[in-house]
Amino acid sequence: MLNDVGQGGSGLNAGACGLIDRFGRHVRYLRLSVTDRCDLRCVYCMSEHMTFMPRKDLLSLEELERLARAFIRRGVSKLRITGGEPLVRKDIMQLFAALGAQLDAGRLRELTLTTNGTCLAQFASDLARCGVKRINVSLDTLDPDLYRSLTRGGALANVLQGIDAARSVGLAVKINAVALRGNTVAEADRLIRFAHDRSMTVTFIETMPLGDTGVDRIEQYLPLDQLRRSIESRWTLSDLPLRTGGPARYVRVAETGGTIGFITPLTHNFCEDCNRVRVTASGILHTCLGQEDAVDLKAVMRSSDEEADLERAIDDAIRVKPRGHDFVIDRNGAPPALSRHMSATGG
Ligand code: SAM
Ligand code: SF4
Repeated sequence: MLNDVGQGGSGLNAGACGLIDRFGRHVRYLRLSVTDRCDLRCVYCMSEHMTFMPRKDLLSLEELERLARAFIRRGVSKLRITGGEPLVRKDIMQLFAALGAQLDAGRLRELTLTTNGTCLAQFASDLARCGVKRINVSLDTLDPDLYRSLTRGGALANVLQGIDAARSVGLAVKINAVALRGNTVAEADRLIRFAHDRSMTVTFIETMPLGDTGVDRIEQYLPLDQLRRSIESRWTLSDLPLRTGGPARYVRVAETGGTIGFITPLTHNFCEDCNRVRVTASGILHTCLGQEDAVDLKAVMRSSDEEADLERAIDDAIRVKPRGHDFVIDRNGAPPALSRHMSATGG
């Protein structure tokens, strides 16, 4: 376990939120990227030959914990560990254990993980022991050849084993699938059956134009209203009022009793009730996934040991959180809306 440094700083009561932006949105949800590296190279996320951050720029595990604790003190109650692939970061379970202690102390309400699942079989029981209850696993296809091609080399069997291991230790698993033209319409039924047979929600996500991946985004882009129409021609869907504070809209499938989510950053903007911010593995705070705004919290942490300085930097950044993104996938072959990749920002 990492050092159990004192609370320091302002320290809000559990449940109170000090992070309120100028539009009155309460920021309670932090997505913390612990690495920009990954064992896969998904075609919508990375280029085949990615340049990763210099190691000196990566936050240490101690710095990641310090940062998380500062956000928790300012009112963040939900923390998602992401990347890159979080489970390839060396000794990452030390960070989970330290953050699990925040759960135990009642300072944090939920600790979750987004993973590609390739290393999940190894870490599922440790995650459960650290207090993780729910995880998202990214899985775009159940066809091993297509999986290998979409991930540029990944083995589907590892992910399926990982999902089994996670479920067997009691983790609730959600499946995330990026909707891709030419693949997902044909894959959707299998993914729905696979997920619902195991009481898992499957959520389809529109591709976002983040970073150059060496693949044409127009070729990949499948608007989710098209996918939904296709699914609806075979399954009986009814809209659910369920909102999780996130961008997904949910439907119930009458035939399975299971749930499908749709995340549509391009066809429907979801910014008005956004309650989340992201920190990259190098400590850059992005208060909006789709804007260039950035505050270097690593620089603040490395120049001062004072928790109050770090909290002030966080507060100042939240105050000017942008109203929303303006993603467009442009038919004229425009460059990506943002130069940074999803794997760097933390999905
Ligand atoms: N490696 C982990 C994984 O794949 O789950 C965590 C990081 S990954 C960047 C987080 C999520 O972002 C994944 O569900 C992935 O499918 C999604 N993602 C990556 N690039 C995307 C893009 N350009 N548009 C939409 N979703 C994307
Ligand atoms: Fe890796 Fe996740 Fe990006 Fe795929 S989506 S390349 S698994 S970070």
